[in-house]
Amino acid sequence: MIIVCPSCSAKNRVPEDKLEVNPSCGQCHQALIPLAPIELNEQNFSHFIANSDLPVFIDLWAEWCGPCKMMAPYFAQVAAQNPKVIFAKINTEESPRLSSAFNVRSIPTLVLMNKTSEIARISGALRSTELQQWLDQHLNAKTGS
Ligand SMILES: [Zn+2]
Repeated sequence: MIIVCPSCSAKNRVPEDKLEVNPSCGQCHQALIPLAPIELNEQNFSHFIANSDLPVFIDLWAEWCGPCKMMAPYFAQVAAQNPKVIFAKINTEESPRLSSAFNVRSIPTLVLMNKTSEIARISGALRSTELQQWLDQHLNAKTGS
C-alpha cells in the first residue's frame, strides 16, 4: 500500500505486513507512521489524503479550545496504539479553508477518512477508551468485519 511521508510528502510503497514494524521513508528516513499525531494543513492535506492507503483520523482543533487541549494527550495515546491508522491534527485557525471545507460547526470535531471519503465524524472531546471504541466501531463498519 502507499503511505505518504508526513515529513517530506514522498509516496512510499509499504507491504501491509510491514506496517507494524515502524517503516521509514525511503526519501528522508523519518518514520512513515509516527506514533504521534501528524499536522495537516492547507498545503499538504489534499496530497496526503488522496494518496494514503491507510485510514486517517483527524482532530480539528483550535488553540483557544479547552476541551481540545484536554483531549490532546488522549488522542496522542490512542495514536500510539493504532499503527494501521494515521492520526492527524488540523489547526482550524491556521487552516480556515480546510475547516470550512469540513463544515466544522464545533470543536473538537473528529473525522475518520478513507482516502477522500468521510467514513464518520463526531464532535466533542472524548477520552482514550471512548476514542478507541469509536474508532473500532467505524473501522469495522468500513471493512465489514
Ligand atoms: Zn520522507
